[in-house]
Formats: sequence, structure tokens, C-alpha cells
Amino acid sequence: MSPLLAKQKTPSDEATVQVHALSAGHLTLPERYFVHPASQTARRTVPSLAFLIQHRSVTGEVTRIVFDLGLRRKLERYSEPIRRHAATREPLTTDPDVVKSLAAGGLIPDDIDYVIYSHVHWDHVGEPGDFPQSTFVVGNGALNLLRGGSDSLHGSHSFFEADLLPPTRTIELSNPDLATNAGSSRSGNSKPGEPDFHQPWKTHGDLPRVIDLFRDGSLYIVDAPGHLPGHINLLARTGLKKFVYLAGDACHDRRIMRKQKEIGEWRDSEGHICCIHADRTLAEKTIERIRELERKGVEIIFAHDFEWEEDPSNAARFWGPRL
Ligand SMILES: [Zn+2]
Repeated sequence: MSPLLAKQKTPSDEATVQVHALSAGHLTLPERYFVHPASQTARRTVPSLAFLIQHRSVTGEVTRIVFDLGLRRKLERYSEPIRRHAATREPLTTDPDVVKSLAAGGLIPDDIDYVIYSHVHWDHVGEPGDFPQSTFVVGNGALNLLRGGSDSLHGSHSFFEADLLPPTRTIELSNPDLATNAGSSRSGNSKPGEPDFHQPWKTHGDLPRVIDLFRDGSLYIVDAPGHLPGHINLLARTGLKKFVYLAGDACHDRRIMRKQKEIGEWRDSEGHICCIHADRTLAEKTIERIRELERKGVEIIFAHDFEWEEDPSNAARFWGPRL
């Protein structure tokens, strides 16, 4: 942590965080795996966005979080099944990666206190070894996936690396299904201004399960089930009545948000029906909650949000000059 970040004050002096996008690679998605109805041949190159979130406490302590690491710079460092899958996502670029994008704004990996993963799919986990000082945070169930504990997921995108995360620097959030509104006073030993990842999940507005990370309303971890076990989102207050919702892979295509398309399904070589979401019903509920946030004026950004990335008015919202 360092005291370099300018203090953010809103007219009402509500606590806020700064949110910047980080370019962290691009990949190409065949439309038929994501939306229905779909062209059999349509493909779209999309970003895998990461985000830098900076919080300054009332005592001046700055905490820096990176949400997702995007694509691994050296594809050959993925495990063999992931490399084979990545080959189906060409064209694919990994320059700039998240480290280069942080450097564009003057930060190095050691400046990052926490890396929070929306989920542990290959195109979000980047290269954890690039962050030797950071603590990694995953949603409940993610570690079981990494250990290979779920064989019910079908599709070539569902390969995981057991040794992805350093055990001594990894926090897995508690199970939101067990902790909702339990009235527990349990919390971690964090000091004021430090994030507390061990609080019980609580209700916040229309969101049934959130963690108020700094206990000041500036940044919420949001349980966003459906896409993959442990899938989490972030809701950040960035100004007076200004909120940004980082939606990870809750949705891959804004036409689904607009109800112009449905979630796609396909059959794998063994005849299993596959969906990009591990639990389609839960994913649809999560998408409906996100639609409601958008109706209330919250800005929604998906990890693969090519429309957001390509909007010229968002260019200045990347960290440092655009690479
Ligand atoms: Zn995913």
C-alpha cells in the first residue's frame, strides 16, 4: 500500500474508489457458443478486460486491487488442454497484457495488494506468477474447480490448472449459500481501511448477497452465480450516485441483456448439451439482476465487452495512455 493516490471526495463525502480498465488481451468467440439464434460462422474478436481499482482509506492508506488478469502473455505456459482450446479462439492477442497495461500508468505488479478473479476460466486468470507479492481472492467453489473436483462441466473451455494459485497467498470467499443474513458478527482481523474478505454475505438493495469490502460502501463483491462456481462481480461507487458494475462473464453479448438473443447451447463430440454457463437457470437470474441495476443507472461492463471497449468515449477510462 502507498499513500500516493489523490484523495477522492464526493460532494457528500461518500467513500469511492477509482476504477480504470486494463487491456489484457483479445480472443475470438464463435457466436454460436454464446447466443441463440446464431450464425454458424459468425465470429467476433473481443477483449478480456481487467480492471484496476484503487481505494484510499480515511487514514490515507491506498489499497490497489486488480480484477481479473485476462490472457496469459505466453500462451505456451498454459496447460496442454487449454492451449488446444485457445487455438480455437484465434485470432488472439496477448500484447499488451495486464502487466504492460499497469506499467503504462506507472504501476508494477508489486504495487497490487489483491488480485480478485471473477472466475477461473483460462481467459481471465492470466499469469499469477507475475504478481509475487499479491494476495489472490476467488469465489467459493473456485478452488475445488482448480483441483479438478467438478467433472460435470462439459465443453473445451472448462479446463483448469491445479497449481494456478499460491496456497499461502490465496483467499477463497465463504459459501454465500450458507452465510446469507446469518446475523453473524464474524469478520476478519482487518484494520479500518483494509479490505475484509471474511465478512458474512449480506443483502444490499436488490442484490441478495454482497460483501461490503472496505465497510464504507465504496466497493462490493457481488455473488453472481451461474457462469461457473465461484463467479463473482464487483459493484464500485466511483462518484456521487455513480456506480460501475464489473460483470465478468455473467453475460458475453449485450444482445442477451437487451433480450434480442437468448443464451446459446451446443452439443459436444460426445453428445452432451453444453452451455457457456455451468448453470443456465442461475445465469439467467444473475443477468436479470444486472438488467435491473442498469435500469437504475448503474454502468455495466462485461469482461468481453467489445462495445464498451470500442466506444471512443471510454478511451480515457483505461489506465495510462492507450497502448
Ligand atoms: Zn468464463
